[in-house]
Amino acid sequence: MKPLPNASDFLPGPVLMLGAPGVGKGTQAQLLMAEFNIPQISTGDLLREHRKNHTKLGMLADELMSKGQLVPDDLVNDMVAERFKQPDTEHGYILDGYPRTINQAEWLDTQLVAYLLPVVAVHIVVPQRVLLERITGRRISPAGRIYNIYTNPPKVEGICDIDGSKLEQRKDDTEEVFHERMKAFDAKTAAVIDYYRTHGGRFAEVNGDQPVEDVTKAIRAALLKLRHHPESDKDSEQ
Ligand code: ADP
Ligand code: AMP
Repeated sequence: MKPLPNASDFLPGPVLMLGAPGVGKGTQAQLLMAEFNIPQISTGDLLREHRKNHTKLGMLADELMSKGQLVPDDLVNDMVAERFKQPDTEHGYILDGYPRTINQAEWLDTQLVAYLLPVVAVHIVVPQRVLLERITGRRISPAGRIYNIYTNPPKVEGICDIDGSKLEQRKDDTEEVFHERMKAFDAKTAAVIDYYRTHGGRFAEVNGDQPVEDVTKAIRAALLKLRHHPESDKDSEQ
């Protein structure tokens, strides 16, 4: 495999991981953030953090999340705006689970003007019959590391390989709530994928129904194909 160019030659900028619940957005975002040295921003993780801290947003989100419904756009956009204020987002980020509605995507457009690099949207595609096992088998560590009792088990059952913490099952990872989440995806988020597919931006579709490493390779290849080379772009502007 060809190595990646130096980080200074290859700046992915803002990257969006799009796809249905369980396609592997978080898994891939966690792997790629280390590679590109930009943070993963998962709105699901941020909301779960609010829930853990019993904030007002956390309490409201808890009710909606446990039913598989989306949290209102204004609240999620404000939460993302807060996160964008942190300096680690200066050179880009990998957004995971956001935007999930057209309203969120339009708000994000207003924020992206702060970046010199254009956004890249990656749609991970997995057949729906595979997703239920992914969701019901998912286990997470308190720090947000992602496992699956069927496809990606920890070395010791129930224990995180990295920090030895106890793995948990998300309470919305049941079959019943999964079906509600799929309904929300079809009703609201499928249109967001079309938004990026058709808005002349940088868009890639990747097969997520293959081993984790192969999905990572496919995303890396897509990002490279859509890459932004500051020097060559400067040349082409002259
Ligand atoms: P999302 O963030 O899209 O909801 P996750 O990254 O949390 O999805 O992955 C959902 C579940 O599927 C997790 O249990 C994860 O370990 C597992 N998983 C992720 N990618 C793959 C893959 N390529 N093959 C098999 N299982 C996977
Ligand atoms: P996730 O961790 O991405 O699977 O999200 C878990 C739950 O958090 C979703 O089912 C929603 O209830 C809520 N959520 C996460 N991200 C968003 C978002 N961008 N907009 C609205 N609700 C969200």
